[in-house]
Amino acid sequence: MAFNKRIKIKDLIEQGAAQTSATLMGWVRTKRSNKHVSFIALNDGSCIQNYQIVADPNTIPEETLRKINTGACIRALGKVVASQGSGQATELLAEEIQVLGESDAEKYPIQPKKHSMEFLRENAHLRMRTNTFAAIFRVRHNLAFAVHEYFHKKGFFLIHTPIITASDAEGAGETFRVTMLDLKNPPKTDSGQIDFGQDFFERETNLTVSGQLEGELAALALSEIYTFGPTFRAENSNTTRHLAEFWMIEPEMAFYDAEDNQNLAEEFLQYIISFALEHSKEDLEFLDKRAAEEEKAKKAELRSEMGLLERLQFVTENKFVRVSYTEALDILRDSKPNKKKKFTFPITDWGTDLQSEHERYLVEKHFKKPVILFDYPKAIKSFYMRQNEDGKTVAAMDILFPGIGEIVGGSQREERLDLLVDRMKELGISREEMWWYLDTRKFGTTPHAGFGLGFERLVQFVTGMGNIRDVIPFPRTPGNAEF
Ligand code: ATP
Ligand code: MN
Repeated sequence: MAFNKRIKIKDLIEQGAAQTSATLMGWVRTKRSNKHVSFIALNDGSCIQNYQIVADPNTIPEETLRKINTGACIRALGKVVASQGSGQATELLAEEIQVLGESDAEKYPIQPKKHSMEFLRENAHLRMRTNTFAAIFRVRHNLAFAVHEYFHKKGFFLIHTPIITASDAEGAGETFRVTMLDLKNPPKTDSGQIDFGQDFFERETNLTVSGQLEGELAALALSEIYTFGPTFRAENSNTTRHLAEFWMIEPEMAFYDAEDNQNLAEEFLQYIISFALEHSKEDLEFLDKRAAEEEKAKKAELRSEMGLLERLQFVTENKFVRVSYTEALDILRDSKPNKKKKFTFPITDWGTDLQSEHERYLVEKHFKKPVILFDYPKAIKSFYMRQNEDGKTVAAMDILFPGIGEIVGGSQREERLDLLVDRMKELGISREEMWWYLDTRKFGTTPHAGFGLGFERLVQFVTGMGNIRDVIPFPRTPGNAEF
């Protein structure tokens, strides 16, 4: 018999009493014993539910029972019977139990009690064994799957863009360097600079901050593409919405203008959130209850008006609000918090960048719906965004979600060579280094557009988690690269 002849708890529960005997494998959550019987709550990660195993000391040796502690891994064979207890329809009457991996229950960090999020982050190697984190990562899986399904159905192709690049797409300079030079004794040029010409790639390289520029090259050949890969930003912002390593989904489409881009982003977000609602129902119900508990602990004025599930349904069922930056700025300027000087960054002149406090005011207080903001001042956006007729704005869009702020950033791209080159000159971006990007504008250029969705911000929104560090298995943030 193969070792792995087991049934997953999820499948066993779904099949109900149809199984007469079963082999389960998983980790012990708790064991309750009296003289006559032991009840073991087993979880194998396949679903949120534990499965109850009933062990009779006449059948299961005392020595084995003693080793069945919280955290231990076991294999249990037995009969599936109708449960006497109220917690479950069926249970496993054990005929044989094997302890695959013992656990020192006293030292095991994940005790059957409520732990703080900080403590669980420090124990990220084991936190997936809790209901909350297992639920989050199952939801995360379903969202990732939905992303691929959505684009596949629409005929988009997945493109793997490079992780190591020589360009800094956002021009923000927040990149992680990739080098093989001897840091103690780097080679120098005649002028005393570090000589990257002697480095592995014979130039300066860094980890990518976005796959967009290469994505555009692909879109201008395959029409509609998307990337779904890791991105790295050495931004020293210790916020609940920033990671140094995160995953981004970046569709890029030829023959799309700014409005087509907005339509796609809205349809896409609604599709993947609906998918999660359908395929992660139990986990989301669990997370909904968890979020409700968290809300209770907050001050009344900070509580959100909707529960997690309500909020998700609301987003899938309602059209997003679309407003221009200029309109949004007027709303913000006249808003109560601005007049009462409650914003840390007061709204003054046209042209200032919006901070997350402004974004959240618009979404959570003013519109109470997801918002697509478009036509931003060109000075605060990237060089590749298409310049509008007014000479002041670019065809950018940001999508703002309640509780999160910016979840998507995108734009119609500047397809006109002369305007693109002028903008690069103004911003001091090297045209020599970007020759390949400019080539697409020289040979068969066309209107095209795209956007980037931060995957962890989406997972945060869908799971209702307050901190982005809790929706990626092993978060990378300033000062943290454990595990
Ligand atoms: P923010 O203003 O919130 O820092 P950004 O303007 O830098 O965002 P973009 O460069 O437009 O963001 O990136 C596209 C998307 O990637 C964002 O809308 C967001 O969802 C996500 N994102 C950006 N930076 C991070 C980060 N450090 N950690 C996690 N997700 C991020
Ligand atoms: Mn940023």
